Amino acid sequence: MSVEVIDGRAAARSLQRSLADEVERLRDDGLGAGLATIMVGHDFSSVAYERRLRRLAAELDLPFLHTTLPVSTAGAQLVEVVAELNESPAVSGILVLRPLPGHIDEAAVFRAIDPRKDIEAVHPENAGLLALGVPRFVPSTAAAAFHLLDTWLNSAGEDRVDFYHRSLIVVVGRSNNVGKPVVSLGYDRQATVQSVDEWADRATGIGRHTRRADVLIVAAGRAGLIKAEHVSENAVVIDVGINPCEDVDGRVHMVGDVDYASVAPRVRAITPVPGGVGPITDVWLMHNTVLAARLLAGHPPPKAPLTALHPAPPLLEAS
Ligand code: NAD
Repeated sequence: MSVEVIDGRAAARSLQRSLADEVERLRDDGLGAGLATIMVGHDFSSVAYERRLRRLAAELDLPFLHTTLPVSTAGAQLVEVVAELNESPAVSGILVLRPLPGHIDEAAVFRAIDPRKDIEAVHPENAGLLALGVPRFVPSTAAAAFHLLDTWLNSAGEDRVDFYHRSLIVVVGRSNNVGKPVVSLGYDRQATVQSVDEWADRATGIGRHTRRADVLIVAAGRAGLIKAEHVSENAVVIDVGINPCEDVDGRVHMVGDVDYASVAPRVRAITPVPGGVGPITDVWLMHNTVLAARLLAGHPPPKAPLTALHPAPPLLEAS
C-alpha cells in the first residue's frame, strides 16, 4: 500500500483565500479585526509561531500587536496586560502564547481574557461551550487537525458521516488547549473517541491503544513517540507535535511526535511535520480573529457551518 501524504500547505493556501474574502466582507461591513499576542520569555516554538502569525497578518493586511514580557513577569502583571487588550478597540482576538513560566497561574490568566476575544477558547466559558458541542470559537489546532481529516476524506471519496460513525479516533495527549478540544471535535462528529495520556504509556505502553486506531491524532510534544509498531496498517495519522530538534551541524529544525520514516510506509495517510497541521492552525487563528470582530460588533454567529458535520459557527469550507 502506498501512503497518501496529507498536504497541509496546499489546504492552508485554499483556506487563506477564503479568509481573505472574509476579511474583505468584514471591511465592507465597516468593521476591523486585529490580533494581539503576548509571550512571556523566549520559548523557541513560541517565537517561531509569533513570527508566522506576524507574516500571515501582514499578508491579510490585518493589524498585529505583539508584546514580549520578561520571564520574571508576575502573573498579576500579565493579567494587567490582558486587561488592557480587552479594552483596546484595535484588538478583536487575544492569544497568550504557551508555555508560560511555571510561577504563573495559567488558568487565572485565561480567565482574565474577555471571552469574546478568547480566540483559542481557553476561558472557562468558551471551553465549556466547546465541551457542550456549541463552541463560540473552535480552537485553531484541533480545528486544523479535523480540517485536514475532512479535506482528505473528501479527496479520498469517503462518505465522511459514515467514516466518522464507524471510526475509532485515538488522541494521544490530553492538554486543555490541544488534546481535549480534539476529543470534543471527535465527539461532535459522532465518532468513538479514546484519549490516551502519558500515564497509560507508563503503565502499559501506548501501543495497545494506538494500534486499534482508525484515526490516530498525536499531540504529546515528544519527538518520535509514535513508531511503526504503534500503528495499524489502515490508520490515518495526524501528527500535531512540533518539537525543535538540533541536527549534527547545530541547526535547529522541527520534527513531529510521529517517527515519519518508520510510520509512513505502514499507514493509509499521514500528515508531515513541517507542512501538516501547523499551516492550517495559523490561518484558523486569523479566521477566529475575524469571527471575534463580528461577535464584538454584535453580529449573530454565521449560520453557515464549517462542514456539513460541524455544528459550530466557523465560516470556512473544507475544500
Ligand atoms: P502539553 O505539554 O500541554 O501537553 C502534552 C500532553 O501530552 C499532556 O497531556 C501529556 O501528559 C501528554 N503526554 C506526554 N508524554 C506522553 C506520552 N509518552 N504518551 C502519551 N501522552 C503523553 O502540549 P500541547 O500544548 O498539548 O502540545 C502538544 C504538541 O503539539 C507539542 O509538540 C506542541 O508544540 C504541538 N503543537 C502544535 C500545534 C500546531 O499547530 N501543529 C499547535 C499547538 C501545539
